[in-house]
Amino acid sequence: MLTTAEMQQEILKLKREKDFCVLVHAYQTHDILEIADFVGDSFGLSKQAAKAAHKNVLMCGVRFMAETAKILSPQKNVYLSSPFAGCPMAEQMTVNQIKALKREHPEAAVVCYINTTALLKTVCDVCVTSASALEIVKNIPQKEIIFIPDINLGRWVEKQVPNKKFYFINGGCPVHMSVTADDVKRAKSLHKNALFLVHPECKKEVTDLADYAGSTTGIMNFVANSQNNEFIIGTENSIVQHLQFKYPEKRFYPVSKNCICTDMRLTTLADVYGILKFGNGGEEIVLDQEVIKEAGHCIDQMLKYGG
Ligand code: SF4
Repeated sequence: MLTTAEMQQEILKLKREKDFCVLVHAYQTHDILEIADFVGDSFGLSKQAAKAAHKNVLMCGVRFMAETAKILSPQKNVYLSSPFAGCPMAEQMTVNQIKALKREHPEAAVVCYINTTALLKTVCDVCVTSASALEIVKNIPQKEIIFIPDINLGRWVEKQVPNKKFYFINGGCPVHMSVTADDVKRAKSLHKNALFLVHPECKKEVTDLADYAGSTTGIMNFVANSQNNEFIIGTENSIVQHLQFKYPEKRFYPVSKNCICTDMRLTTLADVYGILKFGNGGEEIVLDQEVIKEAGHCIDQMLKYGG
């Protein structure tokens, strides 16, 4: 039997021996964050993987993140930590649905959140992250935007770019959409001095009550620069724990007990250990060359318009 600390030490040794770069999304549990080569959001992680010298990449997160890493590093062996870890939002829409929308609005650019499958990206014009969506939508030349799949993020951008016309399909993240205005009011009544920080994947009735709305990285940066000592966090509840480790002198509260992504929780430290030690449990990501090329173009456009 190994303790958590012993298992972590073994993993650190195995990473070096087997030439693995371990990428850990910020929504993973803290014991996994501690063994990461890089922690961050999906796109930040993929960029780090492309820069790293390692031959093998293990993505502790969900499938579209591992696919993005493979698109940016096609020459590397990329593995997903749990074959069952999908993202309900990324898998909500089909290629045919998007093609039909494009036929209806031929002048529009299809702007897709990075939380989409590699296959869906092949029929989109430009990818965005929650941190870059606003800037990219402002910068692209098209005046009409088909924004998929997250209607809440799309509407949040639309409000700030009134000179462009938006079209949506009703999609979104079930985890963030589960937060209600009543949850916020309850949390604010319990923690009167706390600022409410929220992810724009939440519904408008929720972001309207926020002191700050932005990406996970944006929320972390807000806390780093704030003089306030208490915060209600309106994103996946793992961020509450990570912030509490980072700033033990401050207090962080989840806005809702339901803001938990079960897909993100599928990966355990023992899974990471099993993949590195025995080579089983994860899944190697294999993508068609054409998919890599076309989805890669969508990501390149993101870099072109969003830096
Ligand atoms: S939190 Fe939402 S967007 Fe993120 S992986 Fe889970 S379902 Fe997908």
